[in-house]
Amino acid sequence: MGYNRVTPEIIAELVSIAGARNVLTGQDQMFPYSHDEVGEDKWRQMPEVVVKPENTRQIAQIMQLANRELIPVTPRGAGTGLAAGAVPFHGGIVLSLERLNRILELDRDNMFMVVEAGVTTGEVQRLAREEGFLYAGDPCSADSSFIGGNIATNAGGNKAVKYGVTSHHVYGLEVVLPQGDILNLGGKCVKDVTGYDLIHLLVGSEGTLGIVTKTYLKLLPRPQYNAVLLAPFKEMHEAIAVVPRVMKQSGIIPTSIEFMDNLCIRSAESFLERELPSHEAGAYIIIELESTTRVHLEQDMETVADLLVENGAMDVLVGDNPATQERIWKPRRVLAEALRVTSPVHSLEDIVVPMSEIPETVAEIQVIADRHHIKIACFGHAGDGNIHATLLKEGLTDTEWPMVRDRVLAEIYEKVYARGGTLSGEHGVGAKRKEALARFIDPTKLNLMRAIKKSFDPNLILNPGKVF
Ligand SMILES: Cc1cc2nc3c(=O)[nH]c(=O)nc-3n(C[C@H](O)[C@H](O)[C@H](O)COP(=O)(O)OP(=O)(O)OC[C@H]3O[C@@H](n4cnc5c(N)ncnc54)[C@H](O)[C@@H]3O)c2cc1C
Repeated sequence: MGYNRVTPEIIAELVSIAGARNVLTGQDQMFPYSHDEVGEDKWRQMPEVVVKPENTRQIAQIMQLANRELIPVTPRGAGTGLAAGAVPFHGGIVLSLERLNRILELDRDNMFMVVEAGVTTGEVQRLAREEGFLYAGDPCSADSSFIGGNIATNAGGNKAVKYGVTSHHVYGLEVVLPQGDILNLGGKCVKDVTGYDLIHLLVGSEGTLGIVTKTYLKLLPRPQYNAVLLAPFKEMHEAIAVVPRVMKQSGIIPTSIEFMDNLCIRSAESFLERELPSHEAGAYIIIELESTTRVHLEQDMETVADLLVENGAMDVLVGDNPATQERIWKPRRVLAEALRVTSPVHSLEDIVVPMSEIPETVAEIQVIADRHHIKIACFGHAGDGNIHATLLKEGLTDTEWPMVRDRVLAEIYEKVYARGGTLSGEHGVGAKRKEALARFIDPTKLNLMRAIKKSFDPNLILNPGKVF
């Protein structure tokens, strides 16, 4: 696709739309917008201009201009993505949603929050909590990621096992389409089958079909009581084998069921500069439980703790107040940053398999790691089969790393697909997994996705080079 360059005349037009303070052209100013949280240099690209519109109307005008001039536009939330989805590989305009950061309404009667796309997930969670509600979307990046970015990637996170992923909480959207039309979908109705479900086509479309500007989020009643259990296991295979057992045998759906291997425990320990309990363990399992009564919570805790011990847990530590819970959760939440410190060059993956396949999949990853003499740290959302296998460059030369990484990834993906899994559970395809997706996707699905893209974006100017 032949795109045009951003000229001084186009910059002048952008200034007249969004105001001079919202148009960045200096290399230093634009550098933070040249990458997301994917570590390697390969996944960086400077924009030609960064624009930070203040409202939906300005975004519509920018899209009309970009269409007329055939300039690529890359929407950007907080840039915490792990698939290089917000990186402008074709140059052009990076359109940052950071100024659309208003909470518009908290409707207590209907239990909805209406917010702009640039509000952080953590802010939505906090406000809901203060008002006695729960916003159940909970990626580990909640304190920094934007709700619009969560919608674009259909973010998962820690509570997906009980409450589902972001799409389960989104009932309405305001979206600017690639040619500049403003589209309103859904709202506060909890049922709506009036025509195609375009909301859930847009959720997870990774900024390739439209720019999300506003959303209606469903709130839930806040469970009054919760507890977090930390169970260290001597061996990784024992820890991971307990996950399907807890889900099947306990009769309880935990809010979260997470795991981290010894490499992760050690990385978190050195990142947090504090000794973690049983740090020699092969793996940790972290389980969060919630209930509306203290009695029920205590019964559930006992059932799950017994199951953990029967299946080999070395110990079960309980976090029953915000401070002790945070001490258990913190090492899990910081893992993406901690592994970056352990091995600045790495590849954080996002495979997902049916829950019953987790033990075999994790064992197969270890066999592949040993065969290629590479360290692979494993952690993730065990309750929903989502494994963040993280390949570390540590010990490999600059020449060996890309070859070993690609070979190892190809072997992991083969195993994952053979077990009924897929290559991304929550981070998305972006630019990073586009080639791998092309190898595994059903051609009929690919053609359908291309046709949908073309009908939303005939000039292919919105986030080109992503997904396919
Ligand atoms: C420490 C850490 C922990 C993480 N934990 C999790 C986790 O538990 N679960 C999980 O799912 N992810 C996790 N992530 C990944 C990341 O935080 C999520 O993908 C998040 O949803 C991205 O939001 P963002 O605002 O940073 O989006 P960005 O990174 O800015 O963009 C991501 C994609 O969305 C598009 N986009 C952004 N905003 C919009 C918009 N308003 N309209 C249209 N397109 C848009 C971009 O073009 C890009 O394709 C983690 C990342 C880090 C660094």
